[in-house]
Amino acid sequence: MADKIRETTIAASKPAPGEAGRTGDWRSHTPRIDHEKCSQKETCLLCWLYCPDGVISREFPLEIDLEYCKGCGICAEECPRKAITMVEGRQIEGDPDERR
Ligand code: SF4
Ligand code: SF4
Repeated sequence: MADKIRETTIAASKPAPGEAGRTGDWRSHTPRIDHEKCSQKETCLLCWLYCPDGVISREFPLEIDLEYCKGCGICAEECPRKAITMVEGRQIEGDPDERR
């Protein structure tokens, strides 16, 4: 029995916001979601699945926690509808100086 358990043991990690610290201060690019291209009816949630920091919500409309998004662009690369665009800067909603 112990051998069987050992055979099925796998290494896995579970992404969680904050593993890389608050990235809002140093991110160089920011994902923007086009909510017309990504609707609840046609959802796939691949962005949520692939985000290494677990900062994309599963509820619609999708939201990205920009305090912890590091701007890697994986979500934009994986989105089959091209609904996510990476824009230059660390843009946070409501930040008057969003291109810092
Ligand atoms: S991968 Fe694209 S289409 Fe799929 S849920 Fe994310 S933003 Fe929407
Ligand atoms: S750019 Fe996309 S995949 Fe990368 S951390 Fe931000 S939300 Fe996640």
